[in-house]
Amino acid sequence: MSRILVLNCGSSSVKWRLFDGPDTVGKGLVERVGTGGPADHDAALSEIMSAADLSGLAAVGHRVVHGGDRFSAPTLVTDEVFAAVRDLVPLAPLHNPANLTGIEVARRLLPGVPQVAIFDTAFHRTMPAWARAYAIDTSVAGKWGIQRYGFHGTSHAYVSRRTAALLDRPVEHTNVITLHLGNGASACAVAGGHSLITSMGMSPLEGLVMGTRSGDIDPTIIFHLRRVGGLGVDEIDDLLNRRSGLMGLAGDNDMREIEARRDAGDEAATLAFDVYCQRVKGYVGAYAALLGRVDAVTFTAGVGENSAPVREACLAGLDPFGIAVDPDRNAARGGERVISPDGARVAVCVIPTDEELEIATQTRTVLATT
Ligand code: ADP
Repeated sequence: MSRILVLNCGSSSVKWRLFDGPDTVGKGLVERVGTGGPADHDAALSEIMSAADLSGLAAVGHRVVHGGDRFSAPTLVTDEVFAAVRDLVPLAPLHNPANLTGIEVARRLLPGVPQVAIFDTAFHRTMPAWARAYAIDTSVAGKWGIQRYGFHGTSHAYVSRRTAALLDRPVEHTNVITLHLGNGASACAVAGGHSLITSMGMSPLEGLVMGTRSGDIDPTIIFHLRRVGGLGVDEIDDLLNRRSGLMGLAGDNDMREIEARRDAGDEAATLAFDVYCQRVKGYVGAYAALLGRVDAVTFTAGVGENSAPVREACLAGLDPFGIAVDPDRNAARGGERVISPDGARVAVCVIPTDEELEIATQTRTVLATT
């Protein structure tokens, strides 16, 4: 019983990976669920079950986006846990319903196999009160569950731990600023292995500029669009979540395209690149101040792992803070690596993230303790 199936259920796709110990023995992506592909999540999971060799399956690990303020650790799914995750749907209407469907179908199709929920928010439950609170009326905030929850926790946890290992340092004594720059993007200040603060907030919309999300904006923009622009709330939601960020500034959410157009002198792409990278730099400075001592800055995810120009621009001019990138090391490709010059006060690292592996690892931890 050494196999763990990891499921990441979206509303129209299911990403899966099968682990035997630390080894990946199968993986796939079932797309267009309900829109031309399999009819529903039942059919999608049946497809996966016939594609994957599930003999000796010890458990299924499910990615769940929102764990609210209840879940601070990976959790064995019981009826009560399932109901609690369902109660969190209003906080994550775009994500939790699909995650729940995945759990529900897996419990039904794989009876007797433990199902474990791994929450994107869990790693951030160590944030102190000042990092969680928004400065609004506490009774209003309390009534509606308004606080910073943070996301990408599985990635920030994995990458910060790998950074300490790469630098041969104890996690407990290592402060890392992790920069998860994918289609979604977030920064996290990790102090001694614990999340101190992160840039995504009550939802994944806050913080860095992303592929299609605005990140930080003045909230008055929303009132203005509503009152003066006459836009509906759902239209504004769509604008900020799906038509903003790189997409809004330059009409494309792929950083490769933005870079190619910028190299060719395109003004919109240049602006998008600058807004994106300067926002990251601002967070690095803010998080350095909050951490007090920074041992490493680590880039991860699609953009962070692959884009040397973005890494260079995000940290340009930070030499006075002991943060610098060596051009040759930055340009070289590879796996886990240090790209700062020898002797730099702060190590700058690139660590490929592996959320599925981290989910499998955390799932095993739950199995070992139940
Ligand atoms: P997701 O958040 O969907 O998991 P990823 O972490 O896979 O996304 O990141 C996807 C993004 O990574 C793409 O939209 C693309 O912009 C960016 N990306 C991938 N390769 C490169 C590259 N070589 N240079 C710049 N950006 C890249």
